[in-house]
Amino acid sequence: MESKLQKGVIVKIQRFSIQDGPGIRTTVFLKGCFLRCLWCSNPETQEPGIEVEYSKEKCIPQCYECVGQCDAKAISKDGEYIAIDRKKCSGCGRCVEVCYRKALTVVGEEMDVAEVLNEIEKDRPFYEKSGGGVTLSGGEPLYQHRFAVELLRQCKERGISTALDTTGYVDWDILKNTLEYTDIVLYDIKHLDPEEHKKLTGVSNDVILENARRISEKFFPILIFRIPVIPGINDNPKNLKELAQFVRSLSNLPAIHLLPYHRLGVFKYTRLGREYTLKNLQPPTRDYIRRVAELLETFGIRPLIVT
Ligand code: SF4
Ligand code: SF4
Repeated sequence: MESKLQKGVIVKIQRFSIQDGPGIRTTVFLKGCFLRCLWCSNPETQEPGIEVEYSKEKCIPQCYECVGQCDAKAISKDGEYIAIDRKKCSGCGRCVEVCYRKALTVVGEEMDVAEVLNEIEKDRPFYEKSGGGVTLSGGEPLYQHRFAVELLRQCKERGISTALDTTGYVDWDILKNTLEYTDIVLYDIKHLDPEEHKKLTGVSNDVILENARRISEKFFPILIFRIPVIPGINDNPKNLKELAQFVRSLSNLPAIHLLPYHRLGVFKYTRLGREYTLKNLQPPTRDYIRRVAELLETFGIRPLIVT
């Protein structure tokens, strides 16, 4: 049933956010994503279920307090420390309760729409002064589309401006329904070549490009394409030229924002027991990003660099 009691799994609610749309915003990060971008800086949002993060540097050698707490037998001794078998972990959080060093923490919390709205309402004065509002992000917020739509609908009902930060990899009917309650769409375009896109994110880009075209044809919210600039991976002249051609072929031109690659989320992979494969990739310099922007300008689109 879609109501204030519709539940979703939330990773965090970030207040005073200024990079997820205009003005001061509250960004709600939902858990679950259909893509697995190699450079993802929020890997804790990818899996839909509640997870446990483990920070070995905080763990006390030979403590083992958490080991006996896990009915699922997901935690075992590993030398002086512990190991977590994530396939067995249900995210129950019992181990977290006994870890006073906070070496174990839970990622994700089930909340209903009313609870999230209570948090959002705390920032209402800032929206009014700054022209901000609420942004749903992730992961892919439409992985939990019923919850996302209900939250957006109720924000609109309360006169709060809404933004959707989406990968675009979602059924058109779901996206179309969501746009009814969305003022601003932040739409990620990662690569124009379907095969390359699949190698880099795990899925082809055909649905993403088709949905981008449909949004530009049928709806008129503020549409911003967000392009992650991943040095040596998606910033070659061929891809930039194809990106510009695609943008220029749309019915209504979106704004283009360039998001330089960064490594701020790399430590999270270790905490989640996953591998970060772009180990040696360095963030681009300002000059580098400026050259990418200039190249796009030569292809006929004028991007904004967002840092
Ligand atoms: S309870 Fe915390 S400090 Fe103790 S072994 Fe487990 S993770 Fe380490
Ligand atoms: S969250 Fe629950 S299932 Fe997972 S490791 Fe901790 S106690 Fe075990």
